[in-house]
Amino acid sequence: MIAGTISKITGPVAVASGMTGSKMYDIVRVGNEGLMGEIIRLEGDRSTIQVYEDTSGLKVGDPVESTEGPLLVELGPGLLSSIYDGVQRPLPVVAQSGDYIQRGTVASALDREKLWDFTPIATVGQEVVGGDVIGSTPEGQTIIHKVMVPPDVKGKIKKVVPAGRYNVDTAVAQLEDGTEIKMSQWWPVRQGRPYERKLDPTHPFTTGTRILDTFFPIAMGGNAIIPGGFGTGKTVTQQSLAKWADVDIIVYVGCGERGNEMTEVLVEFPELEDPRTGAPLMDRTVLVANTSNMPVAAREASIYVGATLAEFYRDMGYSVAMMADSTSRWGEALREVSGRLEEMPGEEGYPAYLATRLAAFYERSGRVRPIGSDDERVGSVTMVGAVSPAGGDMSEPMTQNSLRVSGAFWALDTSLAQRRHFPAISWTKSYTLFLGQVSGWYEENVASDWHVLRDQAMSILQKETELQEIVQLVGPDALPESEKIILEVARMLREDFLQQFAFHEIDAYCPPKKQYLILKAILSFHEAAASALNRGVSLRQILEMPFRDEISMLKTTPHEEAMEAIPGFCTRVAEEIAGIEVY
Ligand code: ADP
Ligand code: MG
Repeated sequence: MIAGTISKITGPVAVASGMTGSKMYDIVRVGNEGLMGEIIRLEGDRSTIQVYEDTSGLKVGDPVESTEGPLLVELGPGLLSSIYDGVQRPLPVVAQSGDYIQRGTVASALDREKLWDFTPIATVGQEVVGGDVIGSTPEGQTIIHKVMVPPDVKGKIKKVVPAGRYNVDTAVAQLEDGTEIKMSQWWPVRQGRPYERKLDPTHPFTTGTRILDTFFPIAMGGNAIIPGGFGTGKTVTQQSLAKWADVDIIVYVGCGERGNEMTEVLVEFPELEDPRTGAPLMDRTVLVANTSNMPVAAREASIYVGATLAEFYRDMGYSVAMMADSTSRWGEALREVSGRLEEMPGEEGYPAYLATRLAAFYERSGRVRPIGSDDERVGSVTMVGAVSPAGGDMSEPMTQNSLRVSGAFWALDTSLAQRRHFPAISWTKSYTLFLGQVSGWYEENVASDWHVLRDQAMSILQKETELQEIVQLVGPDALPESEKIILEVARMLREDFLQQFAFHEIDAYCPPKKQYLILKAILSFHEAAASALNRGVSLRQILEMPFRDEISMLKTTPHEEAMEAIPGFCTRVAEEIAGIEVY
């Protein structure tokens, strides 16, 4: 047994001596209450420990005992609909003992008593390898939980239980060498779970948010960051992705920005309805919440716990979205701990390894062929991390380093939020590296000119930015009508296409096909108007027609009705504007 005593404490960091034999990232129990901590530096017999719980009351000389293993999470049925703290202790259970989890609490992540309806599919004599599915059980109303052979296990099956109800500790299968396979397994969180190979990310991660899907789409298995100052809409965006993104499973990691924000998530999430099934959204969600009494160090653990949970469902062949709100809180934790360790600081006090940590984290996203002997399964983890730069200053290290390793940048703009243009995602500052990869899917499944229309709309908005500079100098009247129409169409694009109220009954989610059709309606109007102006028709004559009002109502019109009406509308716009007489 490795056991030592505390020789120094500074905030969430403790140093213990007498710890010979310890390994990096081993989990230790600190003090008489057995607070949980992780070894983050080794020097001789001294271990430096980041403590995941409030260290007040710890004293020099208090005992430290090592568990001699890294931080593990338990993976098995019952994860979905659970709410965990940053080290996978279930929140509701422990909340009974007061507001928060008692310090030093050891709680099982999975319910040990609960019986699951297990249906075996493996048979005696079958050779299995890590990742193979030996049976399944329904988890919640919508997800079939696949019971998989743990990654490092293989052999010939000697025994399988018959279909029936078992708890997570039952050996549902046994191998010839005696290895038992249970419905639950353990995994060290800092290590990505293995997969056979990464696949090309060609399938879009659709969100129902027009600016994201049409302008800055990402692929299933891709990743994106949402940087934005206070109150610009990071949390609202993350939550609408959780509700609407076209994925099977949601892993939501919350590091509260403000005092009560995490509480809001904990109260609101369990009440959300899955818009697709009507079942509770929690049926396919795992929440990892950093409560405000957990010190900063736990935020780091929570990020890795979340990634591991996501990979586990990926391995079953599901598409998973992992949201982290906000990763800046994790960055601050790294900064604080690094400061306590008196490491050589990098930019703005962040540790020099910030960039590698972020890269390693986002690297855990991807669309993969999981391990296992069947080659049908495809799973994905898509990651979306919010970043909260102080004062919205995107040049700060967390934003810059996250930007370098993520495939898309959905930049929230303070001035848009102030003007109540929501979602306040900037169309000039945002970008995606996935456009080329997902265009094929859109062209095949939505419309062959999807990409063309998207580019046209983007260039009108760019042109608007240029024209606005001129307008500021000389006033709008100085512009020719051919440019005034561009300003008008750009306004329509902003108000009737980009703006989308997250809480609107209909417009909260816009199907990709409807997104395309609204764009088509606006651009048909533009085309007809531009050619009429060429013939000498005046802009006033065009604007007098009711088309602009009709377009503005499309987004809040029920989807099917709108999608059916738009093609006819476009023909009518073309014909009637072409029919305007020139006086
Ligand atoms: P942040 O997490 O960036 O601090 P929030 O996500 O809490 O900001 O958003 C702040 C407020 O902005 C919300 O309470 C809401 O009123 C408004 N908001 C943000 N995005 C939207 C949206 N898409 N639709 C409607 N309102 C929004
Ligand atoms: Mg927020």
